[in-house]
Amino acid sequence: MDDTNFYSLEKDFPLIKEIKALNEVFWINPKYESFETIKNKLQISEEDVKDAEDRLNRFAPYIKSTFPETNKLNGIIESPISRIPNMKKYMEKDLETKIFGNLLVKLDSNLPIAGSIKARGGIYEVLKHAENLALNEGLLSKNDNYSKINSNIFRNFYSKYTIQVGSTGNLGLSIGIISAKLGFKVKVHMSADAKQWKKDLLRSKGVEVVEYSSDYSKAVEEGRKLSDIDPNSYFIDDENSKDLFTGYAVAGFRLQKQLEKMNILVDEEHPLFVYLPCGVGGGPGGVAYGLKLVYGDNVHCFFAEPTHSPAMLLGLITGLHSEICVQDFGIDNKTEADGLAVGRPSGFVGKTMENLLSGAYTIDDNRLYRFLTALVNEENIYLEPSALAGFMGPIFLSSSEGLEYIKKQNLIDQKNNITHICWATGGSLIPKDIMNEYYKIGKYIE
Ligand SMILES: *Cc1c(COP(=O)(O)O)cnc(C)c1O
Repeated sequence: MDDTNFYSLEKDFPLIKEIKALNEVFWINPKYESFETIKNKLQISEEDVKDAEDRLNRFAPYIKSTFPETNKLNGIIESPISRIPNMKKYMEKDLETKIFGNLLVKLDSNLPIAGSIKARGGIYEVLKHAENLALNEGLLSKNDNYSKINSNIFRNFYSKYTIQVGSTGNLGLSIGIISAKLGFKVKVHMSADAKQWKKDLLRSKGVEVVEYSSDYSKAVEEGRKLSDIDPNSYFIDDENSKDLFTGYAVAGFRLQKQLEKMNILVDEEHPLFVYLPCGVGGGPGGVAYGLKLVYGDNVHCFFAEPTHSPAMLLGLITGLHSEICVQDFGIDNKTEADGLAVGRPSGFVGKTMENLLSGAYTIDDNRLYRFLTALVNEENIYLEPSALAGFMGPIFLSSSEGLEYIKKQNLIDQKNNITHICWATGGSLIPKDIMNEYYKIGKYIE
């Protein structure tokens, strides 16, 4: 796009000026529609998501037999959810705002195997690929006990195949760990943002890590190219994959069961607001999609991005999605939130979520660190910087702009019944010394 077109974009969408100035912004999606009106246009159906859940259930005996940390949940990869009343008080005081309703955190940081939200979509897509290969070879039938996959016959079989992926770190971890365990050859193409410990951990598991000095989009592009020339190689395409997205979406049914167990109602009188840290969009998009399938208009989903990487937000505001990147607007895509350091959003996710997402906002890196340290102090919960992006959501929703949205949805009388969920997307695998450094940074930031 040439300069004149960018000039007119800024005229049409005044918020872009604020985004370019790297200010924190809150955006309400003008294209948000009621679920009833878009239900029949959805590309991924409830059956598709159920099918994914069934597949994960088939694999549970294998997961249980190979990852002992999943024993308690019988091989199901799921995370806890928890009330955080002390953090709520801290946030209200620190930001001088009253938060209406209840505050919860969904701890995908503690998802087994990969320690981040990527344990949903990433592991799911590898399992689906592994199942297809074995079914086609006649090694497996869907009625088998899948623990048989934990054997030399299967490992030898998978060793003829390669799996490749481009990543800022966590997707590489999830794909690398599960693929290596199954017996695949794995190549992870890591962007410059990827933390050293993530590369070290993968190499220790026998994964080939290819390092790039450029950002995420380039690592994906190179990985895709290299994979395409090898007929035995399968590329996990974070920018376009429906399988990844569907794997993430299973979170909807799972969360519903958890909230029921906690006796937390979600209905017209008790709306649910969910805040999801967003990189390329697949993780938060898939989870939000799964939640909309379960709760329809009673759930309101918001994406959260760093002020230096507002890729999805710019794509949604302009409607240009993957045709634009933050660098086009003079924004540098440099953030400590490595999981969110994505300059060009997924076009597939942006279009899929165009009418389903309630809004989006940006958050400053300094605030991520402050929330990180506060969450340790108040609730003894340890997260990586990216995973704190959701915590600004309840604050924005309690501001005058947020209340405007709540009014428009006819929810003003129900505002004290709101359940807010900050989706904490990663952190449990972070080495202690690095976590200590994060903690200290947050402690000294004003
Ligand atoms: C990947 C990631 C996200 C965002 O997921 P996308 O699919 O890239 O949008 C959020 N938080 C953490 C910790 C991540 O690793």
